[in-house]
Amino acid sequence: MPSLDSPVAGTVILKPKRAQPFFGKHPWVFLGAIDRIEGDPQDGAVVDLHSSAGNFIARGFLNTKSKIQVRLYSWDAAVALNLDFFLERARTAIRLRHDILKLNSGPNSAYRVIFSEADGLSGMVVDRYGDWLSVQFTSLALIQRGDAIVEMLVAELGCKGAYLRTEKGIGKMEGVIVEDGLICGEMPPPELIIEENGLQFAVNLSEGQKTGYYLDQRDNRTAVARYCSGKRMLDAFSYSGGFGIYAARAGATEVTCVDSSDGALALAQRNAELNGCTQLTCEKGDVFNTLDGYGKQNRKFDVIVLDPPKFARNRGAVDDALRDYRRLYEVGIRLLNPDGILVLCCCTGLVTMDQLEEVISQVSVKSRRDVQILERRGSAADHPVSASCREGSYLKCIITRVS
Ligand code: SAH
Repeated sequence: MPSLDSPVAGTVILKPKRAQPFFGKHPWVFLGAIDRIEGDPQDGAVVDLHSSAGNFIARGFLNTKSKIQVRLYSWDAAVALNLDFFLERARTAIRLRHDILKLNSGPNSAYRVIFSEADGLSGMVVDRYGDWLSVQFTSLALIQRGDAIVEMLVAELGCKGAYLRTEKGIGKMEGVIVEDGLICGEMPPPELIIEENGLQFAVNLSEGQKTGYYLDQRDNRTAVARYCSGKRMLDAFSYSGGFGIYAARAGATEVTCVDSSDGALALAQRNAELNGCTQLTCEKGDVFNTLDGYGKQNRKFDVIVLDPPKFARNRGAVDDALRDYRRLYEVGIRLLNPDGILVLCCCTGLVTMDQLEEVISQVSVKSRRDVQILERRGSAADHPVSASCREGSYLKCIITRVS
Protein backbone atom coordinates (compact mmCIF):
# COMPACT_ATOMS: atom_id res chain seq x y z
CA MET A 1 0.00 0.00 0.00
CA PRO A 2 1.43 3.42 -0.89
CA SER A 3 2.57 5.57 2.01
CA LEU A 4 2.91 9.31 2.40
CA ASP A 5 6.51 9.08 1.26
CA SER A 6 5.81 7.23 -1.98
CA PRO A 7 7.56 8.70 -5.02
CA VAL A 8 5.80 9.63 -8.26
CA ALA A 9 4.90 6.26 -9.79
CA GLY A 10 3.72 7.21 -13.25
CA THR A 11 2.54 9.84 -15.70
CA VAL A 12 -0.99 10.38 -16.94
CA ILE A 13 -0.98 12.00 -20.35
CA LEU A 14 -3.99 13.97 -21.53
CA LYS A 15 -5.53 13.88 -24.97
CA PRO A 16 -4.83 16.94 -27.13
CA LYS A 17 -6.99 20.00 -26.26
CA ARG A 18 -8.10 18.54 -22.93
CA ALA A 19 -5.65 20.32 -20.63
CA GLN A 20 -7.38 23.65 -20.13
CA PRO A 21 -9.54 22.80 -17.06
CA PHE A 22 -6.48 21.43 -15.29
CA PHE A 23 -4.33 24.46 -16.01
CA GLY A 24 -7.37 26.23 -14.48
CA LYS A 25 -6.82 24.12 -11.33
CA HIS A 26 -9.84 21.89 -11.62
CA PRO A 27 -8.92 18.85 -9.49
CA TRP A 28 -10.85 16.04 -11.21
CA VAL A 29 -9.51 14.16 -14.24
CA PHE A 30 -12.10 11.90 -15.89
CA LEU A 31 -11.37 8.95 -18.16
CA GLY A 32 -12.47 10.75 -21.32
CA ALA A 33 -9.65 13.30 -21.01
CA ILE A 34 -6.89 10.71 -20.63
CA ASP A 35 -4.85 9.50 -23.60
CA ARG A 36 -2.56 7.05 -21.79
CA ILE A 37 -0.78 6.21 -18.57
CA GLU A 38 2.99 5.70 -18.58
CA GLY A 39 4.83 3.68 -15.97
CA ASP A 40 2.94 1.13 -13.93
CA PRO A 41 1.23 3.11 -11.18
CA GLN A 42 -1.14 1.16 -8.90
CA ASP A 43 -4.44 2.61 -7.77
CA GLY A 44 -3.72 5.06 -4.99
CA ALA A 45 -0.23 5.92 -6.29
CA VAL A 46 1.16 9.41 -6.89
CA VAL A 47 1.07 10.38 -10.56
CA ASP A 48 1.94 13.46 -12.58
CA LEU A 49 -0.50 14.89 -15.10
CA HIS A 50 1.04 15.97 -18.39
CA SER A 51 -0.41 17.74 -21.40
CA SER A 52 -0.30 15.92 -24.74
CA ALA A 53 2.76 18.07 -25.52
CA GLY A 54 4.50 16.57 -22.48
CA ASN A 55 4.32 19.55 -20.11
CA PHE A 56 3.80 19.04 -16.38
CA ILE A 57 0.40 20.33 -15.25
CA ALA A 58 -0.22 18.96 -11.78
CA ARG A 59 0.38 16.13 -9.32
CA GLY A 60 -2.26 13.85 -7.84
CA PHE A 61 -3.39 10.37 -6.91
CA LEU A 62 -4.57 7.73 -9.39
CA ASN A 63 -7.64 5.53 -9.01
CA THR A 64 -8.62 3.70 -12.20
CA LYS A 65 -11.66 2.23 -10.42
CA SER A 66 -13.17 5.65 -9.79
CA LYS A 67 -15.05 7.94 -12.14
CA ILE A 68 -12.46 10.50 -11.06
CA GLN A 69 -9.34 8.77 -12.39
CA VAL A 70 -6.91 11.31 -10.99
CA ARG A 71 -7.53 13.74 -8.15
CA LEU A 72 -5.11 16.67 -8.34
CA TYR A 73 -3.55 18.30 -5.30
CA SER A 74 -0.50 20.31 -6.36
CA TRP A 75 0.30 22.37 -9.43
CA ASP A 76 3.95 22.68 -8.42
CA ALA A 77 6.30 19.97 -9.70
CA ALA A 78 8.64 20.64 -6.77
CA VAL A 79 6.02 19.72 -4.16
CA ALA A 80 5.79 16.12 -2.92
CA LEU A 81 2.40 14.86 -1.71
CA ASN A 82 3.79 13.90 1.69
CA LEU A 83 2.80 14.56 5.30
CA ASP A 84 4.30 18.08 5.19
CA PHE A 85 2.11 18.87 2.21
CA PHE A 86 -1.04 17.73 4.06
CA LEU A 87 0.01 19.59 7.19
CA GLU A 88 0.45 22.79 5.22
CA ARG A 89 -2.97 22.42 3.54
CA ALA A 90 -4.58 21.60 6.90
CA ARG A 91 -3.02 24.69 8.50
CA THR A 92 -4.37 26.88 5.69
CA ALA A 93 -7.83 25.39 6.27
CA ILE A 94 -7.59 25.83 10.04
CA ARG A 95 -6.55 29.48 9.68
CA LEU A 96 -9.85 30.18 7.87
CA ARG A 97 -11.91 28.62 10.66
CA HIS A 98 -9.86 29.98 13.58
CA ASP A 99 -8.35 33.30 12.55
CA ILE A 100 -10.84 34.57 9.98
CA LEU A 101 -14.18 33.04 11.00
CA LYS A 102 -13.39 32.74 14.75
CA LEU A 103 -15.32 29.53 15.00
CA ASN A 104 -13.12 27.99 17.71
CA SER A 105 -14.55 30.19 20.42
CA GLY A 106 -14.96 27.60 23.18
CA PRO A 107 -14.18 24.06 24.25
CA ASN A 108 -17.39 22.70 22.71
CA SER A 109 -17.20 24.60 19.43
CA ALA A 110 -18.20 22.75 16.29
CA TYR A 111 -17.18 23.59 12.75
CA ARG A 112 -16.02 22.05 9.51
CA VAL A 113 -12.23 21.99 9.61
CA ILE A 114 -11.63 20.67 6.08
CA PHE A 115 -14.06 20.65 3.19
CA SER A 116 -12.59 18.60 0.38
CA GLU A 117 -11.94 20.49 -2.89
CA ALA A 118 -12.81 23.79 -1.20
CA ASP A 119 -9.67 23.38 0.92
CA GLY A 120 -7.49 21.81 -1.76
CA LEU A 121 -7.98 18.37 -0.23
CA SER A 122 -10.28 16.57 -2.65
CA GLY A 123 -11.94 13.56 -1.02
CA MET A 124 -11.55 14.56 2.62
CA VAL A 125 -14.10 16.11 4.97
CA VAL A 126 -13.36 16.76 8.63
CA ASP A 127 -15.79 18.19 11.16
CA ARG A 128 -14.79 19.14 14.68
CA TYR A 129 -17.19 18.55 17.56
CA GLY A 130 -15.48 19.81 20.71
CA ASP A 131 -12.59 17.44 21.41
CA TRP A 132 -13.40 14.99 18.61
CA LEU A 133 -13.06 14.92 14.86
CA SER A 134 -15.51 13.24 12.54
CA VAL A 135 -13.76 12.28 9.31
CA GLN A 136 -15.10 11.25 5.89
CA PHE A 137 -12.89 10.06 3.04
CA THR A 138 -14.16 9.72 -0.51
CA SER A 139 -10.82 8.95 -2.15
CA LEU A 140 -8.99 5.63 -2.17
CA ALA A 141 -5.56 7.28 -1.94
CA LEU A 142 -6.57 9.29 1.11
CA ILE A 143 -8.13 6.24 2.75
CA GLN A 144 -4.79 4.45 2.27
CA ARG A 145 -2.94 7.35 3.91
CA GLY A 146 -5.77 8.24 6.28
CA ASP A 147 -4.30 7.17 9.61
CA ALA A 148 -1.18 9.31 9.25
CA ILE A 149 -3.12 12.34 7.99
CA VAL A 150 -5.74 12.13 10.74
CA GLU A 151 -3.16 11.59 13.51
CA MET A 152 -1.40 14.73 12.28
CA LEU A 153 -4.70 16.67 12.39
CA VAL A 154 -5.60 15.43 15.87
CA ALA A 155 -2.21 16.59 17.12
CA GLU A 156 -2.44 19.92 15.29
CA LEU A 157 -5.86 20.69 16.81
CA GLY A 158 -5.17 19.16 20.23
CA CYS A 159 -8.18 16.84 19.99
CA LYS A 160 -8.84 13.65 21.95
CA GLY A 161 -9.67 11.42 19.02
CA ALA A 162 -11.06 10.98 15.52
CA TYR A 163 -13.88 8.81 14.25
CA LEU A 164 -14.36 7.67 10.64
CA ARG A 165 -17.80 8.02 9.03
CA THR A 166 -18.36 6.49 5.62
CA GLU A 167 -20.71 7.88 3.02
CA LYS A 168 -23.23 5.61 1.34
CA GLY A 169 -21.99 4.33 -2.02
CA ILE A 170 -18.36 5.31 -1.53
CA GLY A 171 -17.22 1.67 -1.62
CA LYS A 172 -18.66 1.28 -5.08
CA MET A 173 -17.49 4.69 -6.27
CA GLU A 174 -13.85 4.26 -5.24
CA GLY A 175 -13.59 0.46 -5.29
CA VAL A 176 -12.59 0.19 -1.65
CA ILE A 177 -14.19 -1.19 1.51
CA VAL A 178 -14.23 1.15 4.49
CA GLU A 179 -16.08 0.85 7.73
CA ASP A 180 -17.02 3.37 10.38
CA GLY A 181 -14.83 3.29 13.45
CA LEU A 182 -12.26 4.97 15.64
CA ILE A 183 -9.20 6.12 13.66
CA CYS A 184 -7.09 7.26 16.59
CA GLY A 185 -7.25 8.48 20.18
CA GLU A 186 -10.12 7.88 22.57
CA MET A 187 -13.60 6.75 21.61
CA PRO A 188 -16.05 9.68 21.62
CA PRO A 189 -18.76 9.53 24.30
CA PRO A 190 -22.19 8.48 22.94
CA GLU A 191 -23.45 11.98 23.66
CA LEU A 192 -21.17 14.86 22.82
CA ILE A 193 -22.61 18.28 23.61
CA ILE A 194 -21.58 21.02 21.22
CA GLU A 195 -22.32 24.71 21.44
CA GLU A 196 -23.59 26.70 18.48
CA ASN A 197 -24.42 30.39 18.88
CA GLY A 198 -24.98 29.89 22.60
CA LEU A 199 -27.26 26.86 22.13
CA GLN A 200 -26.44 23.29 23.12
CA PHE A 201 -26.79 20.39 20.74
CA ALA A 202 -26.28 16.70 21.45
CA VAL A 203 -24.27 14.95 18.75
CA ASN A 204 -23.76 11.22 18.37
CA LEU A 205 -20.60 10.83 16.32
CA SER A 206 -20.94 7.13 15.64
CA GLU A 207 -24.66 6.90 14.94
CA GLY A 208 -25.85 10.36 13.97
CA GLN A 209 -26.54 11.26 10.33
CA LYS A 210 -23.80 12.48 8.00
CA THR A 211 -20.84 13.36 10.23
CA GLY A 212 -23.18 13.75 13.24
CA TYR A 213 -24.76 17.17 12.82
CA TYR A 214 -25.57 19.62 10.03
CA LEU A 215 -23.05 22.38 10.56
CA ASP A 216 -23.69 23.87 7.12
CA GLN A 217 -27.07 25.30 8.20
CA ARG A 218 -25.64 27.26 11.16
CA ASP A 219 -26.08 30.74 9.65
CA ASN A 220 -29.38 29.86 7.99
CA ARG A 221 -30.78 28.86 11.39
CA THR A 222 -29.81 32.29 12.72
CA ALA A 223 -31.36 33.96 9.67
CA VAL A 224 -34.66 32.07 9.97
CA ALA A 225 -34.82 32.66 13.74
CA ARG A 226 -35.14 36.41 13.03
CA TYR A 227 -38.66 35.77 11.66
CA CYS A 228 -39.82 33.55 14.54
CA SER A 229 -40.54 35.71 17.58
CA GLY A 230 -44.16 35.25 18.68
CA LYS A 231 -44.81 32.82 15.80
CA ARG A 232 -45.98 29.24 15.32
CA MET A 233 -43.13 27.44 13.60
CA LEU A 234 -42.91 24.15 11.71
CA ASP A 235 -39.50 22.52 11.27
CA ALA A 236 -40.03 19.91 8.55
CA PHE A 237 -37.19 17.39 8.02
CA SER A 238 -35.94 18.56 11.40
CA TYR A 239 -33.21 15.98 12.13
CA SER A 240 -32.00 17.03 15.61
CA GLY A 241 -34.18 20.15 15.58
CA GLY A 242 -31.59 22.74 14.52
CA PHE A 243 -34.01 25.25 13.00
CA GLY A 244 -36.69 24.53 15.61
CA ILE A 245 -34.42 25.07 18.61
CA TYR A 246 -33.18 28.39 17.20
CA ALA A 247 -36.81 29.42 16.56
CA ALA A 248 -37.82 28.47 20.09
CA ARG A 249 -34.98 30.49 21.57
CA ALA A 250 -35.96 33.44 19.40
CA GLY A 251 -39.40 33.40 21.02
CA ALA A 252 -41.57 31.18 18.82
CA THR A 253 -44.72 30.33 20.75
CA GLU A 254 -44.99 26.84 19.34
CA VAL A 255 -42.47 24.69 17.45
CA THR A 256 -43.30 21.40 15.72
CA CYS A 257 -40.49 19.17 14.46
CA VAL A 258 -41.36 16.54 11.85
CA ASP A 259 -38.94 13.80 10.77
CA SER A 260 -39.29 10.17 9.72
CA SER A 261 -36.41 8.97 11.88
CA ASP A 262 -36.85 7.98 15.54
CA GLY A 263 -33.18 8.63 16.22
CA ALA A 264 -33.42 12.14 14.80
CA LEU A 265 -36.47 13.01 16.90
CA ALA A 266 -34.92 11.55 20.06
CA LEU A 267 -32.02 13.97 19.48
CA ALA A 268 -34.43 16.85 18.81
CA GLN A 269 -36.25 16.09 22.07
CA ARG A 270 -32.95 15.93 23.91
CA ASN A 271 -31.88 19.25 22.41
CA ALA A 272 -35.17 20.85 23.45
CA GLU A 273 -34.48 19.67 26.99
CA LEU A 274 -30.87 20.93 26.93
CA ASN A 275 -32.05 24.39 25.85
CA GLY A 276 -35.22 24.59 27.95
CA CYS A 277 -37.48 24.75 24.90
CA THR A 278 -40.75 23.59 26.44
CA GLN A 279 -42.78 24.81 23.47
CA LEU A 280 -41.18 22.24 21.12
CA THR A 281 -42.96 19.03 20.16
CA CYS A 282 -41.91 16.26 17.81
CA GLU A 283 -44.00 14.31 15.36
CA LYS A 284 -42.74 11.22 13.59
CA GLY A 285 -43.82 10.75 10.01
CA ASP A 286 -43.20 11.23 6.33
CA VAL A 287 -43.20 14.99 5.74
CA PHE A 288 -45.36 14.82 2.61
CA ASN A 289 -48.06 12.76 4.37
CA THR A 290 -47.86 14.58 7.69
CA LEU A 291 -48.16 18.01 6.06
CA ASP A 292 -51.05 16.81 3.90
CA GLY A 293 -52.69 15.71 7.14
CA TYR A 294 -52.16 19.16 8.69
CA GLY A 295 -53.82 20.63 5.61
CA LYS A 296 -56.89 18.48 6.13
CA GLN A 297 -57.04 19.48 9.80
CA ASN A 298 -56.66 23.13 8.74
CA ARG A 299 -53.62 23.45 10.98
CA LYS A 300 -51.62 26.60 10.14
CA PHE A 301 -48.18 27.97 10.85
CA ASP A 302 -46.48 31.37 10.53
CA VAL A 303 -43.00 30.11 9.67
CA ILE A 304 -42.24 26.82 7.92
CA VAL A 305 -38.78 25.41 7.16
CA LEU A 306 -38.51 22.66 4.55
CA ASP A 307 -35.04 21.08 4.67
CA PRO A 308 -35.28 17.73 2.86
CA PRO A 309 -32.40 15.32 2.21
CA LYS A 310 -30.65 15.25 -1.17
CA PHE A 311 -33.25 14.43 -3.85
CA ALA A 312 -30.91 13.70 -6.81
CA ARG A 313 -27.53 11.97 -6.99
CA ASN A 314 -27.15 12.15 -10.79
CA ARG A 315 -28.25 14.36 -13.65
CA GLY A 316 -30.90 11.90 -14.75
CA ALA A 317 -32.68 12.37 -11.43
CA VAL A 318 -32.84 16.17 -11.52
CA ASP A 319 -36.28 16.46 -13.16
CA ASP A 320 -37.82 14.19 -10.53
CA ALA A 321 -36.07 16.17 -7.82
CA LEU A 322 -37.48 19.45 -9.15
CA ARG A 323 -40.95 17.88 -9.12
CA ASP A 324 -40.44 16.92 -5.47
CA TYR A 325 -39.29 20.42 -4.51
CA ARG A 326 -42.39 21.80 -6.27
CA ARG A 327 -44.66 19.43 -4.41
CA LEU A 328 -43.02 20.27 -1.12
CA TYR A 329 -43.21 24.05 -1.56
CA GLU A 330 -46.84 23.69 -2.63
CA VAL A 331 -47.75 21.68 0.47
CA GLY A 332 -45.92 24.27 2.56
CA ILE A 333 -47.80 27.22 1.06
CA ARG A 334 -51.15 25.66 1.96
CA LEU A 335 -50.22 25.51 5.64
CA LEU A 336 -49.16 29.14 5.97
CA ASN A 337 -51.04 31.89 7.74
CA PRO A 338 -51.25 35.20 5.84
CA ASP A 339 -47.86 36.94 5.65
CA GLY A 340 -46.21 33.66 6.45
CA ILE A 341 -42.54 32.84 5.95
CA LEU A 342 -41.74 29.75 3.91
CA VAL A 343 -38.14 28.56 3.78
CA LEU A 344 -37.05 26.12 1.11
CA CYS A 345 -33.66 24.46 1.54
CA CYS A 346 -31.96 22.29 -1.04
CA CYS A 347 -28.75 20.33 -0.55
CA THR A 348 -28.89 18.78 -4.02
CA GLY A 349 -25.77 20.13 -5.71
CA LEU A 350 -27.15 19.35 -9.16
CA VAL A 351 -30.12 21.69 -8.63
CA THR A 352 -29.15 25.35 -9.03
CA MET A 353 -30.40 28.42 -7.19
CA ASP A 354 -32.06 29.52 -10.45
CA GLN A 355 -33.93 26.24 -10.82
CA LEU A 356 -35.11 26.45 -7.23
CA GLU A 357 -36.37 29.99 -7.74
CA GLU A 358 -38.18 28.76 -10.85
CA VAL A 359 -39.85 26.09 -8.68
CA ILE A 360 -41.02 28.81 -6.29
CA SER A 361 -42.24 30.96 -9.15
CA GLN A 362 -44.24 28.09 -10.68
CA VAL A 363 -45.89 27.24 -7.37
CA SER A 364 -46.67 30.91 -6.76
CA VAL A 365 -48.57 31.09 -10.06
CA LYS A 366 -50.30 27.75 -9.64
CA SER A 367 -51.45 28.42 -6.09
CA ARG A 368 -52.34 32.07 -6.85
CA ARG A 369 -50.30 33.39 -3.94
CA ASP A 370 -47.89 36.30 -4.08
CA VAL A 371 -44.41 35.19 -3.17
CA GLN A 372 -41.46 37.45 -2.44
CA ILE A 373 -37.93 36.15 -2.20
CA LEU A 374 -36.45 37.79 0.88
CA GLU A 375 -33.11 36.02 1.20
CA ARG A 376 -31.03 33.78 -1.02
CA ARG A 377 -28.56 31.96 1.16
CA GLY A 378 -25.91 29.23 0.96
CA SER A 379 -23.85 27.25 3.41
CA ALA A 380 -21.94 28.75 6.33
CA ALA A 381 -18.44 30.01 5.47
CA ASP A 382 -16.67 27.03 7.03
CA HIS A 383 -18.16 25.19 4.00
CA PRO A 384 -16.57 27.37 1.31
CA VAL A 385 -16.58 26.81 -2.45
CA SER A 386 -13.35 26.71 -4.44
CA ALA A 387 -13.48 29.10 -7.38
CA SER A 388 -11.83 26.38 -9.49
CA CYS A 389 -14.31 23.66 -8.49
CA ARG A 390 -17.73 25.18 -8.13
CA GLU A 391 -19.29 21.71 -8.19
CA GLY A 392 -18.62 21.90 -4.44
CA SER A 393 -21.44 24.41 -4.05
CA TYR A 394 -24.50 22.49 -2.93
CA LEU A 395 -26.60 24.13 -0.22
CA LYS A 396 -29.30 26.65 -1.06
CA CYS A 397 -31.73 28.21 1.41
CA ILE A 398 -34.38 30.57 0.08
CA ILE A 399 -36.45 32.55 2.57
CA THR A 400 -39.76 33.70 1.11
CA ARG A 401 -42.78 35.65 2.27
CA VAL A 402 -46.15 34.46 1.07
CA SER A 403 -49.09 36.85 1.11
N1 SAH B 1 -32.92 20.49 9.19
C1 SAH B 1 -31.93 19.61 9.76
C2 SAH B 1 -31.27 18.72 8.74
C3 SAH B 1 -32.22 17.87 7.93
S1 SAH B 1 -31.49 16.49 7.17
C4 SAH B 1 -30.92 20.41 10.53
O1 SAH B 1 -30.93 21.65 10.49
O2 SAH B 1 -30.08 19.81 11.21
C5 SAH B 1 -32.87 15.70 6.46
C6 SAH B 1 -33.76 14.96 7.44
O3 SAH B 1 -34.89 14.50 6.73
C7 SAH B 1 -33.17 13.72 8.08
O4 SAH B 1 -33.25 13.85 9.48
C8 SAH B 1 -34.06 12.55 7.62
O5 SAH B 1 -34.32 11.61 8.66
C9 SAH B 1 -35.32 13.26 7.25
N2 SAH B 1 -36.17 12.66 6.21
C10 SAH B 1 -35.78 12.17 5.02
N3 SAH B 1 -36.86 11.85 4.26
C11 SAH B 1 -37.96 12.17 5.00
C12 SAH B 1 -39.35 12.10 4.78
N4 SAH B 1 -39.86 11.68 3.62
N5 SAH B 1 -40.17 12.52 5.76
C13 SAH B 1 -39.68 12.97 6.93
N6 SAH B 1 -38.37 13.08 7.20
C14 SAH B 1 -37.51 12.67 6.25
